[in-house]
Amino acid sequence: MKTVVCREPFSLAVEDRPSPSPKPGEAIVRIRRIGLCGTDYHIYAGRHPFLAYPRVMGHELSGEIEHVPEGSAFRVGQVVAINPYLACGTCIACRKGKPNACVSISVLGVHADGGMAERIAIPQSALFDAGALTLDQAAMIEFLAIGAHAVSRAGLLPGDRVLVVGAGPIGVGTGLFARFSGARVTLADTRPTRLAFARDHLAFDDTVEAGPDLPTALAEATGGEMFDAVFDATGSLSAMAQSLGYVAHGGTLVLVGVAPGDLVFPDPEFHKRETTLVASRNALLDDFDRVKQAILDGLIPTDVLHTHSLKAEDIPTSMPDLIASADHVLKAIARF
Ligand SMILES: [Zn+2]
Ligand SMILES: [Zn+2]
Repeated sequence: MKTVVCREPFSLAVEDRPSPSPKPGEAIVRIRRIGLCGTDYHIYAGRHPFLAYPRVMGHELSGEIEHVPEGSAFRVGQVVAINPYLACGTCIACRKGKPNACVSISVLGVHADGGMAERIAIPQSALFDAGALTLDQAAMIEFLAIGAHAVSRAGLLPGDRVLVVGAGPIGVGTGLFARFSGARVTLADTRPTRLAFARDHLAFDDTVEAGPDLPTALAEATGGEMFDAVFDATGSLSAMAQSLGYVAHGGTLVLVGVAPGDLVFPDPEFHKRETTLVASRNALLDDFDRVKQAILDGLIPTDVLHTHSLKAEDIPTSMPDLIASADHVLKAIARF
């Protein structure tokens, strides 16, 4: 079967590999769609901290079931999305219902080989019924679930002022789910093209370019009060540290992105707000369910978010262009 392999940083190739055979409890999925995201770009560029090469990337996946174990609730031919976060089920986080933060989590396409292949063998617990969603929509569940999860971590109330810093796919997904919670959402990004896209196509009317004047602009926009909740979706340590200054007194800072290194805050600024500081990691199946329902309800314009299409076989040649034109790519989806 055709498999796109990242042999080492900046080296992608289509290899012919044997199709997988299922172990007990495993399903075989014929992969049909693979969403590409910043994680893949980081792996390709050798910037991912925990990664051994060669690696088959691909964690935003949809496809059709080719094999399921006896007695499965799933059936051959069914369209599924894949929950790429394989958790141990027994560690302290798993016991608390937080498999997204499993001590020994293995994420398909990151810690383990993922779905840039015509077939994948996975535990059947990783299958997610896509229902009436299209293959493209099903492949978008995972990245949107990251935003849905981040919003669930913030405990928003209707009317809350929310700032999302970073208007890439994760930031936009976070903004959409914050809006569904009844919050008033402002998006900030250093890239005007991303803000224009969010304004023109997703009705985010309040956008601010992130530059030296950002603190002043945000203070003016909020009568000096700043935001009930600030979500950082940049993965930049300096942006994460600055975001504390945009949190209202009594507010919450949610770190959706992750960055290698130490995050440093001035304690008086943190303390005087009685800041609630929250990390948001991956997503839960509840988040997958909420994303699916929101798409079915027509609340998420998936055709607008899906800006680029390509053949999976063309990932090796297209990857550099996708990275170079990142300001104009919201979600690229490859197909087998
Ligand atoms: Zn992703
Ligand atoms: Zn666990």
